[in-house]
Amino acid sequence: MAPSILWFRRDLRLSDHPALHEAVRLGGSDGVVPVFVLDEEFLAPAGPTRATFLASCLEALESSMGSSLTILSGDPAAELTALATGLGAAHVVVTGDYGPSGVRRDHRVATQLEAAGVRFHRVSSPYCVEPGTVLGSSGAPVKVFGAFRRRWEVIGPHNVLPVPDVSFVPVASTASIRDLVARAGNRRPALFGDLPDAPPSGLPAAGEAAATAALEAFVQGPIDTYGHDRNLFAVPGTSRLSPHLRFGTIHPRTAVAAAAGGGEGAATFISEIAWREFYADVLHHHPDSVREPLQAKMSRLVVDVGPDAEERFRVWARGETGIPLVDASMRQLLAEGWMHNRGRMLTASFLIKHLHLDWRWGARWFMWRLIDGDLASNTHGWQWTAGTGTDAAPYYRIFSPVAQAERFDPRGDFIHAQIPSLAEIAAPAVLQPGGGVDLLHQADYPAPMVDLATERAEALRRLEETKDG
Ligand SMILES: Cc1cc2nc3c(=O)[nH]c(=O)nc-3n(C[C@H](O)[C@H](O)[C@H](O)COP(=O)(O)OP(=O)(O)OC[C@H]3O[C@@H](n4cnc5c(N)ncnc54)[C@H](O)[C@@H]3O)c2cc1C
Repeated sequence: MAPSILWFRRDLRLSDHPALHEAVRLGGSDGVVPVFVLDEEFLAPAGPTRATFLASCLEALESSMGSSLTILSGDPAAELTALATGLGAAHVVVTGDYGPSGVRRDHRVATQLEAAGVRFHRVSSPYCVEPGTVLGSSGAPVKVFGAFRRRWEVIGPHNVLPVPDVSFVPVASTASIRDLVARAGNRRPALFGDLPDAPPSGLPAAGEAAATAALEAFVQGPIDTYGHDRNLFAVPGTSRLSPHLRFGTIHPRTAVAAAAGGGEGAATFISEIAWREFYADVLHHHPDSVREPLQAKMSRLVVDVGPDAEERFRVWARGETGIPLVDASMRQLLAEGWMHNRGRMLTASFLIKHLHLDWRWGARWFMWRLIDGDLASNTHGWQWTAGTGTDAAPYYRIFSPVAQAERFDPRGDFIHAQIPSLAEIAAPAVLQPGGGVDLLHQADYPAPMVDLATERAEALRRLEETKDG
C-alpha cells in the first residue's frame, strides 16, 4: 500500500472531520499525507486581511499535526497528480466544495488524477446538510427560508466524529504558509482606488483550538440572551464563529450539537446556522447569482455609474458618509475584518438605496475585507438587502440609519467606540446625520454626504420603475 493524500481546503481542523476518517481508512498503516495547495485562482479575490487570517489557520493546523502539513503551490490538478504519482498514492480525499469555481476545479482535478490512475474522493461538506439535498415535495429546490429550515431540521446534522488515530506522513513542501499572503489578492479591482489594504493589527485568534474556545464561551454565556442581544451593536451577544466556520476550523455540526437542547436563544442560533446552509443551497442551484440578480426583473433597476459614483463608493467604504451608524459599521470592518450582522444589513442598504450604487460593488469590498468572506452568505446577504434575492419581504424596504441607531445603539456606545472624534457627543444627537456636529459641537467628522429623505424617495421612484418595467 501507499499513504492516502488528504487535500485540505475549507476544513482546517482534525475533529469532526469525515474526510480525514476516510483518508485514514484508505491509507491504512501507510498513513495520510496532509496537503494544502496555494492556488492563486482561489486566493485572488481575498484581500490581505482574509489571507492573513487563513495563514494563521494553517499555522495552527500544522502545529496540531506535528508540523507535517505539506504546502504546494500552483495548479492543484498538476500539483496533486505529481505528488500522488511520485508517492505511488492511489487515493486523494477532500471535503466537498460547493462554490461554483470549486465545483469546476474539483471536476478538473478529479479528471486529471483519474487519468493517472488515482481516485478522487469527495466526502461530506462544510455544511450540516449538503447543498442540493433539501428539496420540496415536488422534488424542486426550496426557494424560501422557512420551508428550507423545516426540511433541513428533519434531515438533520449527523453525529459529531472524534479525532481519529492517524499517522501523518511529512513530505517536502515547495512553498511556505507565509507565501500565501503575498500570492493573495492579485485581482484587486480598480474601483477600490486608494482604499486601505493593510490588515487590522488585532485579528482574532485562528485555528481549531480558538474556534472551540469561541464556541464554548458562547454556549456558556451569551447564547441564552442571543435572541435579543444579537441585534445590539455594542453588546458582544453573538458567537463570532463566522471566520471559523468559513475556514472549517470548526464544523457547523459541532456548533449545532453544542447548542442542541438549549432554550430560545439556542434555537435562534441554530436557525442562523440554517441561514448559512440555505444560502449555500441557493448558490448551489443558482451559481450565476454571484453576478446576476436572483429575481431577473430586478436587473432593470437603474444604478449610478461613472467616476462620481465610484468616488461615493469609496467614501462609503472608508466610513466617511457622515451618517454615524453607517460609518461606525464600515470602520468596524476596516478595524476588525468583521462587521455586526445588523451593520452589514444597514451599510448594504445604504449603498444600494441611499447611494443608488450596484450591490456587486459592495459585495466585492466585503469579500476583500471580511475574514469570514464567504461567497454564498455574502452574495445572498447582499441580494437579500437589495431586494433582488430570496427575501419574501417587500422589495421597497429601506433601512433608516437613524431608526436603526435609536433601536440598536440607543446610547451611541458603538458609534463612540468606532468614531473617537464623536466620543464627546452624547445620544440622541450623535445618532443623527452629521453626528450632531454643529456650530456648538466641533468635531473632526464629515457632514452627511446625502439627505436621507431625498435619497429614500429617489430609491422608491427607481424601484417603482423597475416593478412597472
Ligand atoms: C450584506 C451581508 C453580507 C454578509 N456576508 C457574510 C459573509 O461573507 N460571511 C458570513 O459568514 N456571513 C455573512 N453575512 C451573514 C452574517 O452577517 C454573519 O454570518 C454574522 O454577522 C457573523 O457573526 P457571528 O458569527 O457572530 O454570527 P452569529 O449571530 O453568532 O450566528 C452564528 C452563525 O450563523 C451564521 N449566520 C448568522 N447570520 C447569518 C446570515 N444572515 N446569513 C447567513 N449566515 C448567517 C454564520 O455562520 C454565523 O457565524 C452577511 C450578511 C449580510 C447582510
